[in-house]
Amino acid sequence: MTYFNLENKVALVTGASSGIGKHFAKLLAKQGAKVVLGARRKEKLDTVVSEIIDAGGTAMSVVLDVTDPQSISAAFDNIYSHYGVVQVLSNNAGISDSTLALSTTEESWNSVLETNLTGGWRMAISMAKQCVENNVSGSIVNTASILGLRVSMGQSSYATSKAALIQLTRSLALELSRKKIRANALCPGYFLTELNEDYFQTDKGKKYIQSMPSQRLGQLNELDVPFLLLACEQAGSYMNGSVLVVDAGHSISNM
Ligand code: NDP
Repeated sequence: MTYFNLENKVALVTGASSGIGKHFAKLLAKQGAKVVLGARRKEKLDTVVSEIIDAGGTAMSVVLDVTDPQSISAAFDNIYSHYGVVQVLSNNAGISDSTLALSTTEESWNSVLETNLTGGWRMAISMAKQCVENNVSGSIVNTASILGLRVSMGQSSYATSKAALIQLTRSLALELSRKKIRANALCPGYFLTELNEDYFQTDKGKKYIQSMPSQRLGQLNELDVPFLLLACEQAGSYMNGSVLVVDAGHSISNM
C-alpha cells in the first residue's frame, strides 16, 4: 500500500536495541526505508541489523547516547556519509526509575529527564536542522506514553518527562510546519519490554493487568499502523502536533 511506502527514505530509530524501538526499526525496513538503529549497546543493535538485512532490508547501526551531544553529532555525520539526510526520526530511547516522589534522588530525576526529554529534544533539533539545510521534508515521531497524559504511583519523573515531551512535540510541530517537518507524539499504553518486564512478572503486576479495561498488555504489532500513520508522509500528510493514544482504553479508565 503506497500510504506506507518509505522507499528512498532514511529512518533513524533511537532505542532500537530492544523493545519498541527494535520493533519499529524492523517495521520501517519492511516499508522500504534505509534504517539506522541507534542506542548504546552495539552488539544488540548489530543483531537486529543482521536480522533486517537477512530479511531483505537495508540497515546500519550507530552507537548513540542521547545524553551526550557529541555522540549525537557524530552519529548524524556517520549517517549522512553512508545514507544521506534522515527524513524519519523515531525518537524512542527512554528509561524509567520507579520511585516514589519523596524517595527520588536528584541523580535519578536528572537521568530520566535528560534521557527522555532533553535527549529527544537534541535528536529532533539535529534532524530538523539537517532537513532544513538540505531542503527536504521530515517526520518526527516521539514515543511519549499515556503517562504523559495521566499519572501513576512512583512515576513522577517518568510522567513529567513524557508530558514535557508531548509539549515539545507540539511546539516543534508549530515551529517546523512551514519547513515541511511534521512532529507527532505516540502514546502507547503498556507493552511488555525490558522496561517493565520485571514488574509485570510480579503478582502485583499481574493483578494490575487484570484491572485494566482490556485485561491484557499490548502486542507490539498493535502499534504498527498508528506509528506508520505518523511516520509516513503520504499517510499522515495532515497530521502535525497530534498526540495519538494506543492503549485499549487504559488512559480513560481510573486504573
Ligand atoms: P526498552 O527498555 O526495551 O528500550 C529502551 C531503549 O532505549 C533501549 O534500546 C535502550 O538502549 C535505549 N536507551 C536508553 N537510554 C539511552 C540513551 N541514553 N541513549 C540511547 N539509547 C538509550 O523499553 P521500551 O521499548 O519499552 O521503551 C521504548 C520507549 O517506549 C521509551 O521511550 C518508553 O518510555 C516508551 N514507552 C514504553 C511503554 C511500554 O509499555 N513498554 C509504554 C509507553 C511508552 P541501550 O540500553 O542499548 O542504550
